[in-house]
Amino acid sequence: MHLSDILNHLGENRKNYFNAVSPPIIQSSNFVFDNLEDFRKAFADEMGSTLYTRGNNPTVAILRKKLAALEKAEDCLVFGSGASANAMAILSQVHQGAHIVCVNNSYSWTFKMLTEYLPKFGVTHTFVDGTNLEEIEAAIQPNTTLLFLESPTSIVLDLQDLKACAAIAKKHGIITAIDNSYASPIFQRPIEHGIDIVIHSGTKYLNGHSDVVVGVVCSSKEIIEKMFYSEFMTLGAIISPNDAMLVIRGLRTLELRMKRVHESGMKITSFLEKHPKIEKVNYPFSPNSPQYDLAKKQMDGAGGLFSLYIKTDSLEKAEAFFHRLKRFSLAVSWGGHESLVLPFCGFYNIPGQEDPTLPFNLVRFYIGLEDPDWLIEDLKQALEVL
Ligand SMILES: *Cc1c(COP(=O)(O)O)cnc(C)c1O
Repeated sequence: MHLSDILNHLGENRKNYFNAVSPPIIQSSNFVFDNLEDFRKAFADEMGSTLYTRGNNPTVAILRKKLAALEKAEDCLVFGSGASANAMAILSQVHQGAHIVCVNNSYSWTFKMLTEYLPKFGVTHTFVDGTNLEEIEAAIQPNTTLLFLESPTSIVLDLQDLKACAAIAKKHGIITAIDNSYASPIFQRPIEHGIDIVIHSGTKYLNGHSDVVVGVVCSSKEIIEKMFYSEFMTLGAIISPNDAMLVIRGLRTLELRMKRVHESGMKITSFLEKHPKIEKVNYPFSPNSPQYDLAKKQMDGAGGLFSLYIKTDSLEKAEAFFHRLKRFSLAVSWGGHESLVLPFCGFYNIPGQEDPTLPFNLVRFYIGLEDPDWLIEDLKQALEVL
């Protein structure tokens, strides 16, 4: 199906609601039945019925159709956050005593799920360098059930070879899952490379307007159906119909927004790489990246996220660079219309916490939808402080 069809029409049966272009927000927790026969039918197939909004809601169902089609998946489930989507996908693939192989530099709450939460249930893990296929394969144990990827990762932007990882996992009979938030399905569709489960923080590009927290898990009918009756219904981390409508609205411009952040990201990183005060830029689509060929092989473009090391060995100078930036807001998260900066010097000297292992001259940027030249002007004047 054509991308334009998915974003503009798929799942929208307009005849059912007065031919309205914009789908209705079915703000109802509950759905009534005309008779016992329909009631019994719904209970025989709760996943395929509209019975209660924790399971199915018609507005959320429109969103699910679009998201599954975008990822070339058979089905998908939508969760109340990206963190819960990651947690549910992981929970769906482990049992007591299972082992997970996960790449280094994964999202912070995925890391916590593996290191602090799952050990309570006897689920262990090994972290591996995702750029090293031999290390990944060597970490697989007889009780390994899941290989968890995130490509590119969201701070240092390192990639894994998705096809090769899927092949290793298949050889050992284990499931692969990936956090695909960075690239969005516009630039990377891991199922095409043999990955089993694709996860998104839809808070980022899928919604794209910094006003909804949402997560997505896409996979085969079999895996999604199992998740529906297990993690999805028992843990109940759903989104509201209103938020589903906001994400449907966000998707209308997904392709357009991704094109914009790719073009701006290319322009801005190429300016920064040539700047004498910049040590190194981490950006998968930079021709200087050691993973440039891999990026071009498995991705159709880059997101607006990148990081860099400024040339300084002074924390004060790193702070001064940050203070000079006027057109980037200081914040976590990314994927909205607004450009952001996350300076790692800000994680130093937090009362009651150890300083991070990542250096203070590391700065992560997110390029939003603003004019790239306007952003470059700001970077140029801020770098003069160094
Ligand atoms: C933000 C983020 C998440 C978590 O998503 P939430 O919607 O904030 O819960 C997961 N993975 C990556 C890569 C992220 O950037």
